[in-house]
Amino acid sequence: MGVDATTMVAATERVLAKLVEYFDVDFSYLRHTDRERRATVLVAEWPPREGVPDPDPLRIVYFSDADSVFRSLEHATEPLIARPSSEYSDYQETVRKASGISGVTGAAVPLVSRGEPTGLLGFIKVGDREWSTRELNVLKAIAALFAQLQARVVAEERLRYIALHDDLTGLANRRALLEHMEERLRPGSPGPVATFFLDLDRLKALNDFLGHTAGDNFIRTLSARLRENLEPTDMIARLGGDEFVIVPAKPMDAVAAELEATRLQQLIIRRVSVGGESVSRGASVGVALGIPGETTVADVLRRADHALLSAKSGGGNGVAVFTDAMRAQFELQDDVELNLRGAVSDGSLLLHYQPEVDLRTGRIVALEALVRWQHPTRGLLPPGAFVGVAEATNLAGELGRWVIRTACAQFAAWRARGLAANVVIRINVSPVQLVSLDFVESIEQVLREYGIDGSSVCLEITEHVVVQDLTRTQVTLRGLKRMGVQIAIDDFGTGYSSLSHLKALPVDAVKIDRGFVQRLGVSTDDLAIVKSIVGLAGSFGLGVVGEGVETAVAARTLVGLGCYRAQGFLISRPVPPEEVEVHLAAGRIPLDLELPKVSRGTFGG
Ligand code: C2E
Ligand code: CA
Ligand code: CA
Repeated sequence: MGVDATTMVAATERVLAKLVEYFDVDFSYLRHTDRERRATVLVAEWPPREGVPDPDPLRIVYFSDADSVFRSLEHATEPLIARPSSEYSDYQETVRKASGISGVTGAAVPLVSRGEPTGLLGFIKVGDREWSTRELNVLKAIAALFAQLQARVVAEERLRYIALHDDLTGLANRRALLEHMEERLRPGSPGPVATFFLDLDRLKALNDFLGHTAGDNFIRTLSARLRENLEPTDMIARLGGDEFVIVPAKPMDAVAAELEATRLQQLIIRRVSVGGESVSRGASVGVALGIPGETTVADVLRRADHALLSAKSGGGNGVAVFTDAMRAQFELQDDVELNLRGAVSDGSLLLHYQPEVDLRTGRIVALEALVRWQHPTRGLLPPGAFVGVAEATNLAGELGRWVIRTACAQFAAWRARGLAANVVIRINVSPVQLVSLDFVESIEQVLREYGIDGSSVCLEITEHVVVQDLTRTQVTLRGLKRMGVQIAIDDFGTGYSSLSHLKALPVDAVKIDRGFVQRLGVSTDDLAIVKSIVGLAGSFGLGVVGEGVETAVAARTLVGLGCYRAQGFLISRPVPPEEVEVHLAAGRIPLDLELPKVSRGTFGG
């Protein structure tokens, strides 16, 4: 028989119709026994009842609260006949409620598979009817056929279920999700189709501390919670680990989707009790909208994933909708990956220089080389747009060598013209460069080639890299020290763990992160931080530079704290070499900070 779950009902109805005619009864039905739910579920009936109440009391009948006939059928393997007598009055009442007829004879023949009742084949005749043993034997044979058929359909459904569901939670799996989305994004389907990517923060910690069983229970509870709080037609898939994807059945615009994302996030972060503990995890949600007929499944999922990344980048526990700006950001990234290698060799990279001055006198004490990319179509790109990509794609070494070489060449040219005599050139070094084996030699070679003494060069490294590979960094830095090259820690204050390393590393100066300096005069917290950094630098005998000085009040505050060296838009933006030359020629950038006479005297020197 070519019957599966979907054709089962129609095929059964055809058989039931024949049986109704043959046995001359009024109704017949086939029911399936759901062992887990302890209920009997209507599969098919013939003829269709008229005026079926909603909910239909016969669709699902729980054995525990059924009438005496249904109740005794839970474990029965032999036919049961209920005639219209007072003995079966509660059964008669069930039939009356469901179909409006009373005083019937019901015959129920269990479907038996491996000795277990798996369903019922039933007949109803208005009035009293006798069933002969011969008739019942025929019915038992038919019921056996139905039992086989049902077992096969159940097995097939089970297989299909396993193929499409996640073991742990019973939610849809990746394959089911893809099938579903394919369907939803078909041309002509209602849209936009909102897709939510959910990710739990630090689930691993939970597994580590409470054990995997607790972790599994946690996931299961959350899954059940999602299921309860969403429509039955909404797609909820678990992609393994702590990743869920939800595709609501209802079309949504961006505004509605963002609200829904927040609701989902709130649901997830509510506490769950597992293994005797009440725990909760933060969750981030990324959202993307798919337009049926326009967006592919892969596109929507990728965008939702990107949005999730951006939601997480805000420290986790966030919600983000994929926007045009994000799209632009990702296109830029692709483009950078594609064209950066060429840029290093074709002359479209350039360096701008930002002067650093002594705030008390305006004298230029250093120049920081800052890389830019003159992109053929996108204009002048700041390093933030491509340095990260370079680091992620093995181009950091090449880019770094270009920067060092170019900065040194320019610096040597200025020196040759009598400019920049007492100025230090500052060059940013990426972590990747610092751990490369030949880094020290390559610097040495460039310095020799341009006749620059090591002490005129200061390499800036971030606090972050120092911590990553301390031993390696130490070796490299000592090599650089031997040439007299200076080392500054950049963006100081944004990483925490390296204060203790300051002693272990041959560092000459720290640059206070511009985030703290910018708000001087506005934020007292930042004032406290800057104060302690200056104090700390002093006690280690390190130089200190304030970055990101944008206002006179910030500059005055730095001077007041004893931090005289500074860099920032108030003094000069990073500018092309021709422009910085003008300042170099003057030797100083005049600032009118109206420093109090006392502080000039007190802190001078
Ligand atoms: P950084 O080393 O902290 O460089 C200072 C950044 O602060 C520069 O941004 C500069 O334009 C900006 N800046 C300076 N003064 C002010 C101010 O008063 N206010 C504000 N809001 N910003 C100010 P830029 O040029 O975009 O560089 C960003 C970062 O890119 C640099 O941060 C550095 O980490 C990295 N970078 C730049 N050039 C290179 C390079 O050649 N190699 C490597 N590896 N990284 C580089
Ligand atoms: Ca820097
Ligand atoms: Ca910095």
